[in-house]
Amino acid sequence: MKVAIIGAGISGLSCAHELESYGISPVIYEKNDFIGEVHDHVGGDLKIISRPIKDSIQYYKRLGIQLKPLNKINTIIHYSPNKKTIIQGSLGYFFRRGKESDAMKPQIYEKLKNTKIKFNSFGDYEKLSKDYDYVVVGTGNSNFTEEMGCWQEWVTTYVKGAIVLGDFDPYTLIVWINKDYCKNGYVYLTPFNERRASLVAITTEVNEKEMDWYWEAFLYAENIKYTIVEEFKLQHKTGFVYPHKVDNIYFVGNAAGSIDPFLGFGIMNSMTTGVMAGKSIACGKNYEKLIQNRVQQNLYMHEFRKSFNKISNKGYDKLITTIGIPGIKNLLYDTDFNVVKNMGKILGIFNKSDYLK
Ligand SMILES: Cc1cc2nc3c(=O)[nH]c(=O)nc-3n(C[C@H](O)[C@H](O)[C@H](O)COP(=O)(O)OP(=O)(O)OC[C@H]3O[C@@H](n4cnc5c(N)ncnc54)[C@H](O)[C@@H]3O)c2cc1C
Repeated sequence: MKVAIIGAGISGLSCAHELESYGISPVIYEKNDFIGEVHDHVGGDLKIISRPIKDSIQYYKRLGIQLKPLNKINTIIHYSPNKKTIIQGSLGYFFRRGKESDAMKPQIYEKLKNTKIKFNSFGDYEKLSKDYDYVVVGTGNSNFTEEMGCWQEWVTTYVKGAIVLGDFDPYTLIVWINKDYCKNGYVYLTPFNERRASLVAITTEVNEKEMDWYWEAFLYAENIKYTIVEEFKLQHKTGFVYPHKVDNIYFVGNAAGSIDPFLGFGIMNSMTTGVMAGKSIACGKNYEKLIQNRVQQNLYMHEFRKSFNKISNKGYDKLITTIGIPGIKNLLYDTDFNVVKNMGKILGIFNKSDYLK
């Protein structure tokens, strides 16, 4: 069977890995001449967001892909304009992103044995769909999905990130929410180690120029004094995709709407859609059914996002205080309560009662 994959990203590489397990050797078309991201950063995988999946490392292992995280996350510090809450426990994992051998994509790439990768090759889905039995679109963006009329846009955000030097706890994630400098988005700090971290601001519905203003506003408001050694900027689009397969063309990863519309997390869904597309191609299984749980999770995230957008800075203070109250903290962080599924509704009630305004 001839399978072409467009993009050697998380979803494309995961798809190739799954196909290989069935004896199929795909060809990956990758426009860059390397595997990984141009900019080093540290990504997060949070248990509170992934439920009902309890542990992402174990989940990836069940998908057949064993990954080594950079570190465990055992503390999250949440800042709102006037409040601070510290949560501790087994909260998730940090993953290295970039080109280094311990970064996520190089780790998956290293496991491939019979996949051919054509570097510096732009994959054109229309042409490839005639030359191959199946084409898997894993481009990390919605360009082809939109062209084929399968994309409905949800939220567009601008991301500005930096590598910063300072003193950090490698097991602690710091998150700031404040309408004044990130609108309905957030800023987070994820450490590589004690000295180096990535600092990323995600701001909703702004253009590139405005993003610089919001970034400076954040640094000023929070009195951030880290030494900035590198900066990057990019746009994130989230949206709903249907169908996820048209004729012999599969969408995976961000091209399949994997990136969530609340935090912009997409690792788990990208890996899932990649593996499930491989399974569907190899075994003739229904792709929509195989990925329906993860698609549903993003629909819940969308509801969550809509309720979250209505919260004011005063509401953020109340929210951050509320998640630190012992009984609520235990429910949110120490049980299997599906926060994503229920929080949209709960925030909706709070919104109606003016609690979070
Ligand atoms: C700064 C940043 C921070 C993030 N942090 C987190 C996080 O903390 N947690 C989390 O879960 N998610 C995070 N994400 C999201 C996550 O990285 C993505 O959801 C995931 O990488 C998407 O995987 P993918 O396979 O769809 O695309 P990618 O991994 O982006 O790979 C796409 C590949 O396709 C190639 N390509 C594109 N077009 C073509 C073409 N026409 N022909 C050939 N090759 C092509 C690209 O060069 C690239 O190699 C973050 C994303 C960014 C940008």
